[in-house]
Amino acid sequence: MAELEVSVYCYWNGCIKYGREGVYYEGPAPKKIIVNPKIALNRLLDEMYVLTGVDVDKQRSKVKIFGRYPSVVGQSKFQYLLLPVVNNSSLETMLEVPSKHPSVKIVELYLEVKSEGVTGPAACSSKRQKTVKVERDSSTGNIGDAAVDADMTDDLNKESNPGVPKPCLSSLWLDDHDLRVGLCFKDADELKKAVDWCSIKGMQKCVVRETGTDECMFECIKWRCKWSLGAAKMENHGLFEIIKYTGPHTCRPVEPEKSDSEFEADEIERLVRRHPTLSFSELQNWWKANIGHELETSEVQAAKEEAIKRAFGDWDQSFEDLPKLMSAFQSSNGLLVDWKYDLFPNPKFASFCGVFWAFPQSIQGFQHCRPLILVDTKELKGKHQLKLMIASGVDAADYYFPLAFAVTKEVSSDTWRWFLTNIKEKVTQRKGLCLISSPHPDILSVINEPGSQWKEPWGLSQVLSETVLVPVLSRFSRTGESLEASWRNGSEGGI
Ligand SMILES: [Zn+2]
Repeated sequence: MAELEVSVYCYWNGCIKYGREGVYYEGPAPKKIIVNPKIALNRLLDEMYVLTGVDVDKQRSKVKIFGRYPSVVGQSKFQYLLLPVVNNSSLETMLEVPSKHPSVKIVELYLEVKSEGVTGPAACSSKRQKTVKVERDSSTGNIGDAAVDADMTDDLNKESNPGVPKPCLSSLWLDDHDLRVGLCFKDADELKKAVDWCSIKGMQKCVVRETGTDECMFECIKWRCKWSLGAAKMENHGLFEIIKYTGPHTCRPVEPEKSDSEFEADEIERLVRRHPTLSFSELQNWWKANIGHELETSEVQAAKEEAIKRAFGDWDQSFEDLPKLMSAFQSSNGLLVDWKYDLFPNPKFASFCGVFWAFPQSIQGFQHCRPLILVDTKELKGKHQLKLMIASGVDAADYYFPLAFAVTKEVSSDTWRWFLTNIKEKVTQRKGLCLISSPHPDILSVINEPGSQWKEPWGLSQVLSETVLVPVLSRFSRTGESLEASWRNGSEGGI
């Protein structure tokens, strides 16, 4: 049966307030979107960004979503709770509301956005102290009523990322001050993750202890610090609610002794999915700016590797997918592909040796390029230790022009012969081409062998030593990067 679509009111540019019926939003009129109740959070975020005009990439905006969750307190009477929408599961909880409470026809989501360097909405600029009194069902223990300084008007910060199918908690939590009495979580795990995130971000440590069935207490490990948080699953709404909160920490932040690799991979993953070619130092800078402490290069490296694996699969999977990828490009884009196999006496056991490819757009465009071809190779990192062979033209404006590539198990005179012959016969259309390469013996042997098409009258070859080759390559790049560097992105993304 088709899922009934859900109407969602998106509120932003205002602020979250508490009234007699619980939480509500004060601000401009909402905009309505209709969504499938099973929509993933990243998809919903995409829609909300379009709706609100938030450009996450450019503005590096901080976004946070809360839901207005109804809790039945009497016949057709609700008390509305603030539920952070932190992942697909809490989003589903919100989108199930109309099916669970038919009188609530529309789901209300509050989007809080803050761009860097921009203060919060004017309507929310006055700060006030709020004391929240929370009554607990006597049957669930006596963590007790709590009074807390709850600054409901603070900017709510988070880094958003619509490209992550499994959004990380930091998408919704950045600061300790976001924790407050009355805040509800779908379950204990979601709450623990939120508290963990705040602790890591604030460089504080807390311990959690179960204080009863479905209730727990978090406390700062520093005995002088009175920071604590109590939460319990409330019978009236079935959610985990913060019922006691004493904060912020009065202890001094401490540098984490050892890193939390899973947390790091979670955080790096959200970035790597959108920008897979970020270098380790760029990731380190991002980490320092967003998380607040330094990460060792080895930690960033491990986190990036794990994040790449999660986002794009591991080496074995990539290798298995290569034929499918090539075939998809072949059928959709007319990619020129040539597979090379090591042949054994029994062809059944032929094994991969290399794959050559050139896009038809490159082949077509090359006729307008200078009669030059530069070739180079690059070691590919990773499990299989493959090599990337690169052939590039130079266009009229002296920019590199991507021509052909090959990935091979090894670079030898045999693979150079295969690579250069494919270029000559399948990619280029004219005589008199000049080949520029390093003076590697394998290349020399191929271009000098009898019948070579890289000798006059078919063509010319210019072999340049490393010291000469680098300035020549730089000559053809306005950005000054080497041929190798200019293709680094292509070579590091895995095959
Ligand atoms: Zn503390």
